[in-house]
Amino acid sequence: MKLGKIVTIILIGFIVSCSNKSKKNEEWTKITRESKTIDNITYHFSSKIHISRRNSAIEECQNSITENLKLIKETEFTNEMDIEFLESRTEMLKYTGMGAQGMAFPDRNTFFTLLKDKDSPIKHEMMHMITMYKWGTPPETSTWMNEGLATYSGGICSKYSLTEIYKYFIQSKKLITMNKLANNFYGNPEMIAYSQSAFICKFLIDNYGLDKFKQIWVKGFNEMISVYGFDHQQLEIILAKYVNEKHPTNIEFDWEEFNEGC
Ligand SMILES: [Zn+2]
Repeated sequence: MKLGKIVTIILIGFIVSCSNKSKKNEEWTKITRESKTIDNITYHFSSKIHISRRNSAIEECQNSITENLKLIKETEFTNEMDIEFLESRTEMLKYTGMGAQGMAFPDRNTFFTLLKDKDSPIKHEMMHMITMYKWGTPPETSTWMNEGLATYSGGICSKYSLTEIYKYFIQSKKLITMNKLANNFYGNPEMIAYSQSAFICKFLIDNYGLDKFKQIWVKGFNEMISVYGFDHQQLEIILAKYVNEKHPTNIEFDWEEFNEGC
C-alpha cells in the first residue's frame, strides 16, 4: 500500500508538471521574419510588412548600390550580405547596441536599417558596406572620411547645400578643426561633424580624385602631406578660401532647425 501511495503521488506530480508546461506553451507569441535572396544579398523583413513595401525597400537598396558605385567610380559589388529591416530604434538598440537609424557591420556581412519612407538611412549604410568591403575598415583617424563619404552620398536632413552649411559653420565659428574631426570624430557635435566631413570629402574627391582619397582612407590622417602635398591646416585654409569665394557675405541659416537633424 505504501508503494502504491508513492506511485500515485509521483503520477499526480507528473500530470501537474505536464499541465503547467502546456499552460506555459499557450503564452508563447509567434514572431516571424521572412527573407528573400536576390543575387548576393538576402533581405529580411518582419512578416507584418506588406510585400509591396518590401519590394520598394529592396529596390531602394539596389538603386543605392548603383549610385554609390558610380560615386566612387567602381563597377562591381558581389559581396554576400544580409540586410535586416527593423521597425523602431528600440529594436535597433536591441540588435546592434545602438539606437541609431542604421548600422553597417561588414565584418558580420550584415547591415541593419530602419524602414523609413522619408530620410531613409539605406544609401548611407550601403556606402559604409561597399567602401569597407572594397577599401577595408579605415583606421580611427579616417573615421571622418567613412562617415563623411556616407553622408555625402546619403544626404543630410537639411534644405541647405553642403557649401552653404560649411559657410554657416565658418561665420558662426562652429567649424570643427580638422585635428578634432580626425582624432575624435564621435566626440564632436553630431550634425556639425557629419555635414562638415561630407563637404570635405566631396571637395577632396572633386578636386584631387579618388586615388588620393583612398590612400588617406587606408593610411590615416597623418599621411595628408605625403599624399596631397598639404597638411590639415593648409587644407582648412584652402576650404575656407573656396567657400568664402562662393559666399562672400554671411548667409541666412536656421541653426535650430538644422541641428534637429532627421
Ligand atoms: Zn554612418
